[in-house]
Amino acid sequence: MGTAIHRIEIPVIMEVGSDRLANVGSYIERAGIAKVVVLFGEGIRELFGEKIISSIKDRPALTLLDTYDFDDITIENLIPHAFSMPSKADAVIGVGGGKVLDTAKYIAFLNNLPFISIPTSTSNDGFSSSGCSLIINGKRTSVHAAMPFGIIVDLDVIKNAPLKFIYSGLGDIVSKITAVFDWYFEEQHNVSKVDDFAAMLAKKSVNSIVRMPYTQITEQFFLKEMVDSLTMSGIAMEIAGNSAPASGSEHLISHALDKILDKPQLHGIQVGISTYLMSLVQQHRNERIEKFLGDTGFFDYVETLKLKAEDFEKAIDLAPSIKPNRYTYLHLEENRKKAKELLRSNEILKRILA
Ligand SMILES: [Zn+2]
Repeated sequence: MGTAIHRIEIPVIMEVGSDRLANVGSYIERAGIAKVVVLFGEGIRELFGEKIISSIKDRPALTLLDTYDFDDITIENLIPHAFSMPSKADAVIGVGGGKVLDTAKYIAFLNNLPFISIPTSTSNDGFSSSGCSLIINGKRTSVHAAMPFGIIVDLDVIKNAPLKFIYSGLGDIVSKITAVFDWYFEEQHNVSKVDDFAAMLAKKSVNSIVRMPYTQITEQFFLKEMVDSLTMSGIAMEIAGNSAPASGSEHLISHALDKILDKPQLHGIQVGISTYLMSLVQQHRNERIEKFLGDTGFFDYVETLKLKAEDFEKAIDLAPSIKPNRYTYLHLEENRKKAKELLRSNEILKRILA
C-alpha cells in the first residue's frame, strides 16, 4: 500500500449558538456565496421558513434563486430534481432533519456545489459528515458525498426539539469510545491501519462531553458541546477517509436492527444501547459510559420504548455480515456469545430491554 494523499475538506462556516437562524444570510454572504437555493424538510417551512428566507433576502449581495419542499432520499426521485435546479446556483442549503440534509447534501454533490447544513435536530453526526443515507433499489444505502461547506446550528431550535433527538445525539457521540477501540483491535489484527490524528479527534470529541458538569441536558452549553462533538466526529471520518473512527461494532448492531425491525428507533438510540453493551464486551470504559447514559436520563428514556432483548440477540448475530471486510469485536464468535449473555445478565440491560 502506497502513501495516499488525501485532501481534507473542513467546514468554512461553523456557527453554533443562540438565534442563528435569523442570521443565516449574513453568514453565507460573508463566506463569499451569492446565489442560493434552499430545500426544506417536511413541515420545516411553516416553522422556520420565514425567518431564514427573510434573512437571505435582507442581504444586498445575496440572491435566493428558489426554495423547495423536497426531502426525498430515493435516488430515482432525487436525481431529476438535482438536475432541474437553477444552473446559476453557488450553493445548496438544506434545512430540517436527517432526510432533507441527506437530500440537499447529495443534490449539492451531484452539481459540484457547496452544501450548507442547517439541522433543526441533531440526532446523529449526519449534519456534519460527508456521508449520506439514500434509498437505492429499495434499500437504505450509505453513499459518499462531500463535507458540508457550512454548518449552522441554532441552539434555541435544538433545545425545543423533542428530547428523543437529544438522547439520540448523545447515543451517537458516546459510540466513539467503542468505535475507536474496535479500530485499534482491527489494527492489531492487521486488517486496517489506524489514522492517529482521526482517532485522537474522535476520542477528544466524546471525552469533552462525557466529562462535562451540567444539571440538565437542555442547557445551552451542554447542547453546544454535543453539537461540537458530533461535528468533530464527522471531521474525524473525513480525515480517516472512512467511517471507522465514528462507527464500530455498536453501529453494526444498529444497522442490523434497521434490517430486522419494522419500525427501527432513531439511529443514536440504537447505537447508544449497543455502545453500552459493547463497552462491557470490550471491558473498556464501561463505567464511564454507564454513568453518562444513566445521568443524562438516556437509560430511563430507553426503558419507555420497550425494545426487545431478542431483537438485539438477532442483531448481534447479523452484525459481522453487515460489514464483512471489517474486523470488530463482534466479528469473533466468542464475543457475540458474550454480548448475548450480557443481555440476560447485566442489570441495566435487563431493566431497559423487555
Ligand atoms: Zn452514527
